[in-house]
Amino acid sequence: MRVFTASLATETNTFSPLPTDRAAFEAAFYAGPGEHPETPTLCSSPVPILRQRGRDEGFTVIEGSSTWAEPAGLIKKETFEELRDEILDQLRAALPVDGVILGLHGAMVAQGYDDCEGDFLERVRAIVGPDVLVAAEFDPHSHLTRKRVAQLDLAATFLEFPHTDFQERGAHVVDLALRTLRGELRPVISTFDCKMIDIYPTSQQPMRGFVDRMKLLEGQGRILSCSVIHGFMAGDVPEMGTKIMVVTDNAPEEGAALARKLGEELYALRGKTAMPIVGYEEGIDLALAVREAEPSRPVTIADTWDNPGGGCAGDGTYVLLSLIARGIDKVAVGAIWDPVAVSFCHAAGLGATLRLRFGGKAGAEAGPPIDAEIKVIHLAQEGHQSFRASRVTLGRSATVRILGTEIDIVLISSRTQTYEPTLFSNQGVDFAGKEILLVKSTNHFHAGFDPVSSRIIHVDSPSSYPTKPALTAYQKAGSDFWPKVADPLGLDAVTAEDEEA
Ligand SMILES: [Zn+2]
Repeated sequence: MRVFTASLATETNTFSPLPTDRAAFEAAFYAGPGEHPETPTLCSSPVPILRQRGRDEGFTVIEGSSTWAEPAGLIKKETFEELRDEILDQLRAALPVDGVILGLHGAMVAQGYDDCEGDFLERVRAIVGPDVLVAAEFDPHSHLTRKRVAQLDLAATFLEFPHTDFQERGAHVVDLALRTLRGELRPVISTFDCKMIDIYPTSQQPMRGFVDRMKLLEGQGRILSCSVIHGFMAGDVPEMGTKIMVVTDNAPEEGAALARKLGEELYALRGKTAMPIVGYEEGIDLALAVREAEPSRPVTIADTWDNPGGGCAGDGTYVLLSLIARGIDKVAVGAIWDPVAVSFCHAAGLGATLRLRFGGKAGAEAGPPIDAEIKVIHLAQEGHQSFRASRVTLGRSATVRILGTEIDIVLISSRTQTYEPTLFSNQGVDFAGKEILLVKSTNHFHAGFDPVSSRIIHVDSPSSYPTKPALTAYQKAGSDFWPKVADPLGLDAVTAEDEEA
């Protein structure tokens, strides 16, 4: 048995001012054939998992390239084509194969390609023909297009958001694929379009219960796998939106019925799944009140949408400007992406005081840059934070303190969202002594900051992330979905009639 595997992934925020080129992939993660580390990355876990299964079970695994770029804006056409064709050439050279298992993200958009993964999968299918198994793992923040489903024999997404189960789901896809190749299964994909877009954190109800119930269905009867495609509201593409995907062992009617049932259940929860997010001025008021009642620990304010993990620059200044204007004194800010300001701090040296302009550079949405007299209190050639077992680079970093205050700001040159308080402690900031910790992340920071904070407050400040889909002027995603339309599936009337009857 011969199985080919590779991974090509990023998440494209088509509203972001940051173009994505090959250097962005190489800077974040790039491993040529056979070079993938034993530890999995978010979207490439099928590669090392399949490698291990091949060793243990004595079949041949042919590895292609694996690469990932930090989420940002539209991918340069040549970059997508080059990376795609590199893997397609590796696949051609590997023929004949019995199966292809890919680690994808599912929200890639390139110049001239609204559906990068659909294009890629169509070319894979053209090379291997109709009888070879093609399987993929996706991030749920993706676009499940008809073109993809038509090319795939089976697929699954991570179920958790934060994506704590990416490895488990990679193993799940690999396992189903291998059982299929051994003739035990005949997978069929069924989908349901919920005609909605929302935020679905599984760290809280009602999504916690929804996902737990869904997990129990897997393995029952002929149901092999259930996934929710959350969709990605920052990708303006024709098939943007929330979908359900069920894989059965050749039971398409049962699969379609279950996908519809789960989809309608989720549809009934629209508008009720996201964490509470308040305007940033209101959020600061709330933080000050909490701080007064419980002064022993800092309050964490999450600048929810200026999140490099969602493709934004991470250099927004609105919340910090308000904290400064209000005279709030003990603040830690982590992080603001500003490679130019970092280079000025390194040039001035540790302990130097200077008038520094930082933040607000990548686009008008980020707010104005901040000009302040600062002292350089920490420098690193390669700053880093932790995220569970992994080490996340900040690139060259500089921590600055605004003179006359205890406002410490970690400036970074490699874009990343805030994951854990090591972002502060590794960069010379005594975060425990602060009143407010200002972080940039939507949800992945939660597990790390919850234990050190008296309260976590999600705030909404302007950014290049389109946070209100009802108001976003989508060019390609259309308008036939909730919240643009109150009841696009027409189920509310049915429910009301049922209740009357
Ligand atoms: Zn995601």
